[in-house]
Amino acid sequence: MGAAGPKVGQSVVDLIEEHGINYQRQMTIKNINPAVKEVIFENGATKKADLLITVPPHKVPDLLKEASLTNAAGWVPVDRETLKTKYENIYAIGDVAAVSLEGKYKPDKPLMLPKAGVFAHNEAEVVAKNVASLIKEDGKQVAFDGQGSCFLELGDGTAAFAEGNFFALPHPKVTMKGPSRLLHQEKVLYEKYWFKRWF
Ligand SMILES: Cc1cc2nc3c(=O)[nH]c(=O)nc-3n(C[C@H](O)[C@H](O)[C@H](O)COP(=O)(O)OP(=O)(O)OC[C@H]3O[C@@H](n4cnc5c(N)ncnc54)[C@H](O)[C@@H]3O)c2cc1C
Repeated sequence: MGAAGPKVGQSVVDLIEEHGINYQRQMTIKNINPAVKEVIFENGATKKADLLITVPPHKVPDLLKEASLTNAAGWVPVDRETLKTKYENIYAIGDVAAVSLEGKYKPDKPLMLPKAGVFAHNEAEVVAKNVASLIKEDGKQVAFDGQGSCFLELGDGTAAFAEGNFFALPHPKVTMKGPSRLLHQEKVLYEKYWFKRWF
């Protein structure tokens, strides 16, 4: 959780290690050799794996590249408050959007808004309200404020909860509560609310 800061990041690592999980920092997978069940890392290290659970390479759909919407890093740069791209009336929200943060923990390390469902959700509401306002010509434009939160499922009926403002200065201000059983109940209720069929 780089953008959440070293304190919250270390709390997450502590929680992982308390559960007997060996956490290794800065290890990027370069390749996988299924024939010998081996994972090869960018730094040359290798690890054997009986079961590998991994996330495939994260990238934008080709369409966005073909439309010249992406930057050198392969994401779509946007204005952080309006989610406007360089093209008029084209917005980018969620994982495809590159939202740069003004705040930093180290002067030479610029930060980007993390890619998380909570930001996709909040950005969508901002863009939807602003497009509606443009159509209605009521001048009621709103701005994305960089606020976000998420539960961290920890097993054993417990969860933690991180929340904060990623646009805060001089760096994002994020705090973590828990873990506790009560927070796990809140997470369950949140899921039920989210997945309920309202219509
Ligand atoms: C393992 C994992 C765990 C995560 N846990 C959390 C968490 O706990 N909390 C949290 O907030 N976030 C979490 N995230 C991140 C969260 O899932 C993403 O940030 C969020 O889903 C981004 O939403 P999105 O709408 O931008 O993109 P997506 O959810 O990826 O939706 C994009 C959609 O566009 C479709 N699509 C792609 N190309 C085309 C095309 N050419 N034409 C039409 N459709 C297309 C895709 O099929 C997809 O349905 C997690 C992600 C992963 C991988």
